Amino acid sequence: MPEGHTIHRLAARHAALFAGDKVHASSPQGRFAEGAARLSGTVLESTEAYGKHLLHHHAGELTLHVHLGLYGKITDGEGEPSEPVGQVRLRLTSDRHWLDLRGPTACEVLTPPEVAALRARLGPDPLRADADPERAYARISRSPTPLAALLLDQSVVAGTGLIFVTEALFRAGLPPTLPGKRLGRDGWERLWADLVALMSQAVERGRIDTVRDEHLPEVMGRAPRVDRHGGEVYVYRRPGDPCHVCGAQVRRGELAGRNLYWCATCQPA
Ligand SMILES: [Zn+2]
Repeated sequence: MPEGHTIHRLAARHAALFAGDKVHASSPQGRFAEGAARLSGTVLESTEAYGKHLLHHHAGELTLHVHLGLYGKITDGEGEPSEPVGQVRLRLTSDRHWLDLRGPTACEVLTPPEVAALRARLGPDPLRADADPERAYARISRSPTPLAALLLDQSVVAGTGLIFVTEALFRAGLPPTLPGKRLGRDGWERLWADLVALMSQAVERGRIDTVRDEHLPEVMGRAPRVDRHGGEVYVYRRPGDPCHVCGAQVRRGELAGRNLYWCATCQPA
């Protein structure tokens, strides 16, 4: 599933392509025909990302809400789009650009109160200037739940997925199983600042890099990572491989049905 940086990049791209333009909306597949009809002919005024949720705000207080989930994909281009191929849930076109959305978990039109309700059920997003990390700490500092599970819970922190969470915990030297309430305020402030830094860099680069300069492949004399996720990381999807810092084998475990990765030496319990 794409992590928050991908959605923030999409929001910025869609603003560049469509903001201020009148758009035509359709649902070639038919499943979003009614919603598309409500949006069609309106001006797309602005876009935003909140965690893994993409919002297109249209004139007339209508907001398109998209959550890509595991399989959702958005493509775009200039000029006239070609005949729709496959299950296109939503096609958006302006005089200059087009966009196709396929396979999302959510694609719906929201009213302002519904947008407010969506925001209310999400934790602070490290990529948003209006994020209040105290809201997340209030939940974390009272919870016996493992820190990794709390950070993956979108109602605690929004936009963080498995890569950012496992890597930020490694960089902080914290075991993923640490109960939230055992993380002190200083620890939380450092963790939050690191999430902000890692995720902001990922928005710029379009990939997730988490290793510090001294652990880059060229510095360590090791081969670069080959993975469809790209990016140089410490532990994510590296089970059995040597830790870049201490050489111990990276561990893998399961937590609430998700794989977790950590180094038992660098992240002692
Ligand atoms: Zn290590």
